[in-house]
Amino acid sequence: MDKEGLVERLKEIVGAENVLFSEVDLTLYGYDASLEKGRPHAVVLPGNTEEVSSVVRLAYQEGVPIIARGSGTNLSGGTVAARGGIVLHFSRMNRVLEVDIPNRAVIVEPGVITLDLQTQLLKQGFLYAPDPASQKVSTLGGNVGENSGGPHCLKYGVTTNHVLGAELVLYDGRVTWVGGKNPDNPGYDLMGLIVGSEGTLAIATKIILKIIRAPEAIKTMLAIYDSIEDAGNTVSAIIAEGIVPATLEMMDQVVMEAVEKSVQAGYPLDAAAVLIIELDGLKDGLDRQAAKILEICKRHNVREVQLAKDEAERNKLWAGRKGAFGAVTRLRPCYMVCDGTVPRTKLPEVLNQVLKVGEKYGLLIGNVFHAGDGNLHPLILFDERDEQEKKTAVKAASEILKICADAGGTISGEHGIGLEKLKEMNFIFTEDDLEAMRQIKRALDPKEILNPGKVIPEQERVEATG
Ligand SMILES: Cc1cc2nc3c(=O)[nH]c(=O)nc-3n(C[C@H](O)[C@H](O)[C@H](O)COP(=O)(O)OP(=O)(O)OC[C@H]3O[C@@H](n4cnc5c(N)ncnc54)[C@H](O)[C@@H]3O)c2cc1C
Repeated sequence: MDKEGLVERLKEIVGAENVLFSEVDLTLYGYDASLEKGRPHAVVLPGNTEEVSSVVRLAYQEGVPIIARGSGTNLSGGTVAARGGIVLHFSRMNRVLEVDIPNRAVIVEPGVITLDLQTQLLKQGFLYAPDPASQKVSTLGGNVGENSGGPHCLKYGVTTNHVLGAELVLYDGRVTWVGGKNPDNPGYDLMGLIVGSEGTLAIATKIILKIIRAPEAIKTMLAIYDSIEDAGNTVSAIIAEGIVPATLEMMDQVVMEAVEKSVQAGYPLDAAAVLIIELDGLKDGLDRQAAKILEICKRHNVREVQLAKDEAERNKLWAGRKGAFGAVTRLRPCYMVCDGTVPRTKLPEVLNQVLKVGEKYGLLIGNVFHAGDGNLHPLILFDERDEQEKKTAVKAASEILKICADAGGTISGEHGIGLEKLKEMNFIFTEDDLEAMRQIKRALDPKEILNPGKVIPEQERVEATG
């Protein structure tokens, strides 16, 4: 079937108004928040599971790739149509279908914006905990695709710890359910396999999420340091004392400078680093934990610890942190995020090595990250229009991920592999490991319809670029 024929069939399935194929539309859907670019044949906005199933069945029959897309904020090329194909954009499937308080569960469509669900639940005193910094725009389908993390995932766990089940459309259009509201299901943990599979194994059309009671009290502190090393050592010391705060986020001077130009969160421009430490839980005992944390910070030469006095001050501190990625573009037009994770005791040493990579390549690197999880986000700043500088940034990013892998860490804490980190999979997996993954992919997607070319490097490709 030619492209025109394909578009006509798609119009029959979802209605002409829900198929996009103009030059402008295909260009707009040709990228996401990574540096990768591609061009789909068409973009489809399905309205329900039946339409998704029919589109996938058509794609299977015709051998055309299918790329699921939420808001396209992933940072690894996961929604780029590298081999053409149909982008399934879930913006119309954005309903919260059920809020089941007695069973502590909600059922949502994949296009629900993460923060919208959280705002709705908070009004009822409940929380959906995973909070990617992009929560204002990211979707729950995308969060599932990437197994997203966020500041509060230190205490509460990442997306996979909150997904109970899902309705899935399989490679040939069949519809099935995995998991359910029961906390434990017999047999293989298929839900665990799907979360984080970046749309390469199945497409989620309904998702059952776990919800918890919102905490009774919250305390948010800003700890200010004159040395990155002291800030890093504080992080492991707090956890070593047996305290797991809700968040332990770190930002360095480069990032604070950018944030202050953009959001004015009140961060100190003369400090080397700050930690945002948030405690939550029952009111009783929170003061005691805060006092203990203050003592640990002092032991590690903190300059000052400021306590957010009210909700407005707390929101301001978080607005700075959550707006940090966008803010750095005030310093240089583009950034590349290295999402490496290291054992948290290695943070000071690895951060030092990251700085050295920046010096070696003459690139400005800012750091803003989930320190409690050891999940670094060095932001390499550059100008994409300068081909040479772009190449250097990509090389530096790969070198930083190698440093993380060599420190006993890994190449992605939460942003996924997509297209961008295929080569780096070799840093942490053997060829046997990768072949096991390819076997799973072949079993669940024999014709390579679902987001082909992502996550698992092809053997030849690794040899050609590695
Ligand atoms: C400024 C900024 C800050 C960020 N902060 C964080 C952070 O703190 N933590 C974090 O983890 N990430 C963060 N991210 C990355 C990104 O926002 C997350 O990965 C998010 O989950 C992506 O959601 P999305 O709706 O944009 O998904 P998309 O980018 O559209 O898709 C992501 C992946 O999921 C797949 N997918 C989408 N929908 C489905 C579906 N229904 N079924 C199966 N697969 C599907 C896609 O094919 C793709 O592979 C940040 C990004 C930006 C730009």
